[in-house]
Amino acid sequence: MVVGGGLAGSEAAWALAERGVRVTLHEMRPLVRTPAHQTDGLAELVCSNSFKSSELVTPHGLLKAEMRRLGSIILQAADQARVPGGAALAVDRVAFSAAVQERVTAHPNITLVRGEVTALPSPGVVATGPLTSAALSEVIGARLGTRGLAFFDAIAPIVADESLDHTRLYRASRYGKGAGDDYLNAPLTAEQYNVMRQKGTEAPYSSPLNDLHEKGTFVCAACELPLFSSATKFDSGTGWPSFWAPIKKENVREEVDNSLSMTRTEVLCARCDAHSGHVFDDGPKPTGLRYCMNGVALRFVRKP
Ligand SMILES: Cc1cc2nc3c(=O)[nH]c(=O)nc-3n(C[C@H](O)[C@H](O)[C@H](O)COP(=O)(O)OP(=O)(O)OC[C@H]3O[C@@H](n4cnc5c(N)ncnc54)[C@H](O)[C@@H]3O)c2cc1C
Ligand SMILES: [Zn+2]
Repeated sequence: MVVGGGLAGSEAAWALAERGVRVTLHEMRPLVRTPAHQTDGLAELVCSNSFKSSELVTPHGLLKAEMRRLGSIILQAADQARVPGGAALAVDRVAFSAAVQERVTAHPNITLVRGEVTALPSPGVVATGPLTSAALSEVIGARLGTRGLAFFDAIAPIVADESLDHTRLYRASRYGKGAGDDYLNAPLTAEQYNVMRQKGTEAPYSSPLNDLHEKGTFVCAACELPLFSSATKFDSGTGWPSFWAPIKKENVREEVDNSLSMTRTEVLCARCDAHSGHVFDDGPKPTGLRYCMNGVALRFVRKP
């Protein structure tokens, strides 16, 4: 018995079946869902569609080469569903899952059963992945004598091509590898890079945002997280766009900055870590704070 029809479970079932073992593969979707999977397909990728490098000089490239020689179903399906990705093995996730499902369910030694397993199989393989159902997690925890089973991760969003502004993007290969131009790159200008990634400061009075007094939101120029509202903008006379409060406390991160032999408080975008400026305690009411920002680190979105 193999529990979990993900990547590992499909592979385990296939490997056993190919060696003459009769396997029952249990997959709980779609009867019980996980917080991340979207379909009821076997081996559904939930995040990146890349299996990383195919180059033999990397550990993951070598592992894939070895798996291929062992007759891996995951790699057969990945090769079949491959999309351009430079030196990386990237796949069309729908075609990949379909290819795994088609072969696994067609194998005469594999029976696929839909439904949640809530007890540990014996003998069996548990391959329920990072999003193991709550009931089975309990049982695994009890068997191992630990309550510390946890999984935390972020998930990469899938972006629709028509939602992208291609005038701000260029195509290129990644790290100059592979012949194609398979990756979309969103570059910063030299001045944005200097400020946001190298914590530089733009020249005072250089930003058109300094004198801008329309209604709207100032978002991070790198990741578009809203950072400041025009409602808190004031004319500080310093030559840099100034605000007395961020739009939300949690959207900015503040850090002690001891550079240039002073102690200042640095302000960063909480989402992408871009440096945006400093905050001082000589601002106007009601907060008494002055968020002194670099205009190039912000983009203004006019209120419709
Ligand atoms: C939010 C998030 C982001 C991730 N980002 C990445 C990434 O960018 N790159 C990367 O390589 N990996 C990423 N991963 C890890 C990724 O999930 C694994 O690489 C891969 O899916 C693990 O394969 P698996 O077979 O172990 O688990 P899964 O593919 O998740 O398969 C486990 C299967 O078991 C089933 N199952 C769970 N409990 C039960 C039960 N009690 N009974 C029956 N079936 C059950 C589930 O429905 C699922 O189909 C991410 C995972 C998550 C959750
Ligand atoms: Zn940002």
